[in-house]
Amino acid sequence: MSTLVLDGCTVVTMDGQGSEYSTGHVVVTDNVITAIGQGSPPASLDVAVEGSVTRSGAVRRIDASGCLATPGLINTHHHLYQWGTRGMAADATLFEWLTRLYPVWARMDADMVRPLATGALAWLARTGCSTTMDHHYVFPRSGGDVLGATVAAARQVGLRFHPTRGSMDLGASSGGLPPDEVVEDRDAILRASKAAIEEFHDASPQSMLRIGLAPCSPFSVTAELLTEAADLARQTKVRLHTHLAETGDEDEYCAEHFGCTPVEYLDSLGWLGDDVWLAHGVYLDDGAITRLAKTGTGVAHCPSSNGRLGAGICRTHDLLAAGVRVGLGVDGAASNEESSLLGEVRQATLIARSAGGPRALSVRQALELATMGGARLLGREGEIGSLEAGKLADIALWRLDTLAHAGVADPVAALVLGSRPPLELLLVNGTTIVEQDQLVTVDAQVVAADSRRAAAAMAEGA
Ligand SMILES: [Zn+2]
Repeated sequence: MSTLVLDGCTVVTMDGQGSEYSTGHVVVTDNVITAIGQGSPPASLDVAVEGSVTRSGAVRRIDASGCLATPGLINTHHHLYQWGTRGMAADATLFEWLTRLYPVWARMDADMVRPLATGALAWLARTGCSTTMDHHYVFPRSGGDVLGATVAAARQVGLRFHPTRGSMDLGASSGGLPPDEVVEDRDAILRASKAAIEEFHDASPQSMLRIGLAPCSPFSVTAELLTEAADLARQTKVRLHTHLAETGDEDEYCAEHFGCTPVEYLDSLGWLGDDVWLAHGVYLDDGAITRLAKTGTGVAHCPSSNGRLGAGICRTHDLLAAGVRVGLGVDGAASNEESSLLGEVRQATLIARSAGGPRALSVRQALELATMGGARLLGREGEIGSLEAGKLADIALWRLDTLAHAGVADPVAALVLGSRPPLELLLVNGTTIVEQDQLVTVDAQVVAADSRRAAAAMAEGA
């Protein structure tokens, strides 16, 4: 048994009572938070001596004064492979950007995806993210096991991982947006989805990996695939995810092809429910918001990507006011070159207020979106998303005593509105992933060089 004590930090728990401790402690035993509160750790804990070994095992004490402890951040929408296509189609709409990038993505294989996913995950960790989903929906015929490559990368970097087996089966010749070369046969998709669940899904309470199913979007998958994927997900008790209501072009596509809005379309296919979360949710009318709230369907808000592609502004305030569950996502790095989850907290705050005034989203609400909000979308609210005794030790410790933040009146405002602070420590399941702003599980220089080579290989000849 090992014990880690964070002592002397400000603690923002994000628990149901909004508990915060100005000078507090967090005690971690193995992979679980065992004590948390104001002041010094309980006297019963023999934790005073750095590196000491007590009757109950090794103890490490960290003087965390000058730091803020928060739950590790939870990313609810991403495409890790897009780490290799950053900076392309930099001034394009979503449909223009996709049309430019599909042929590049068609060249990917598992040997490229492994280093690209490692790069994306390593950078997420540097920005305070302890749990991420991935939405992988391009499976080139000769690409090998690209999903397995993302799983290997997540195990290496050490993040808690919720990969979704994505898919596209509606090519351009059948009225879809993607070229036929990047779509798959529906039966093959469903077989591969079942195989991914059998191989990787771990439903246990402390799970480091859970699979979901994620047909890509209304303009790249058939209604039959949406229906059958939902059936499979519900039989196997995994969650469902897709892109929805992201742009005006998609809104028009749904009106033209299905005679309804994107939310009405999903509703007609049995695709709304508390086991579903949707990326974006920008084009939602009042009726759609009510329907999402009633069915418990979640929304992954991706403000930087929406801004990058000029898609529009998600009605975050209205969603929260209606009781819709909302989390944050960086989205793929090809539409968010910053790929910082803490950056999304800031961006969500600013864009909500630009649209709805200064009280549209408070700094604590914004931080909640990236913590408990994300945990709820992934069905993990009992295990992660807040700092509470008995929860898993996914913790970010931010240094707020340097030039950029020292003296800021409110530590949460400093974190959300200020520049990104040094990440003193990132724990995932009790294991140190980042320390003093440096990755400890991978060599950042090696990851950068490997991902640069993979990006060049994918771009070559496209
Ligand atoms: Zn996306």
